[in-house]
Amino acid sequence: MTTADVRYARHMLLPEIGEKGQDLLRSSLVTICGVGGLGTPVAQYLTAAGVGRIRLVDPDVVERSNLNRQILHWDEDCDSSRPKVESAEMKLGRMSREVKVQTVRRAIDDDNVSEILDGSNVVVDCLDNYEARFIVNRWCVESGTPLVHAAVEGWKGQATVVIPHMTACLACLIKKVPTVERPIPVLGAVAGVLGCIEAIETVKLIIGVKEGLAGKLFVTDLKDIVLDTFDVEIDPDCPVCGLGKTDH
Ligand SMILES: [Zn+2]
Repeated sequence: MTTADVRYARHMLLPEIGEKGQDLLRSSLVTICGVGGLGTPVAQYLTAAGVGRIRLVDPDVVERSNLNRQILHWDEDCDSSRPKVESAEMKLGRMSREVKVQTVRRAIDDDNVSEILDGSNVVVDCLDNYEARFIVNRWCVESGTPLVHAAVEGWKGQATVVIPHMTACLACLIKKVPTVERPIPVLGAVAGVLGCIEAIETVKLIIGVKEGLAGKLFVTDLKDIVLDTFDVEIDPDCPVCGLGKTDH
């Protein structure tokens, strides 16, 4: 057995993964937008899962107030005001020699989104603002790239998966940008739960498991341990993915 065979042996015991699924993970590029409370657990679990290439996108440096939830960033990174993408790249490289990490220290906007997300097999939304989320959503719909979304606030979280033109997109789901209290209160482990769900959905998209959050909205309140899932319908008048759009 090779080192990689041993490393992923428990994965390959799963009939949904096997050697073929592990090869698919190894040959994939996943872009993680936002390397904070959601993005750090996503990056760790996808690295551990054997995703071959991970692109990290975040413009910020590590601050002390990040550390209750952004578990790849440590005290030493605050001391040196290390960019989050560099902090995460260092830790992921120590977790696994198999992963190739690319770093993009930029905020996503309309002008750079194509360049930043180009070539991704899956895009993971770990952002903390809806403006950037909608830019990423539009690019994913237009390029036909699957998008995994999650958001957290307080004890609560939500997640969904967008398969362009097959399921509702974020603009079908979110009609009005929610007003968000800033700084956003978050129990760190709530971001961890939602980040793990995003990592699981990303793996499923890569290995071809159909069951999951595509076209569904998962919501949870982890104070009361309430979890629920709703179907999300495509809005035919959606300005991004709907049949009623007129912009192209
Ligand atoms: Zn839509």
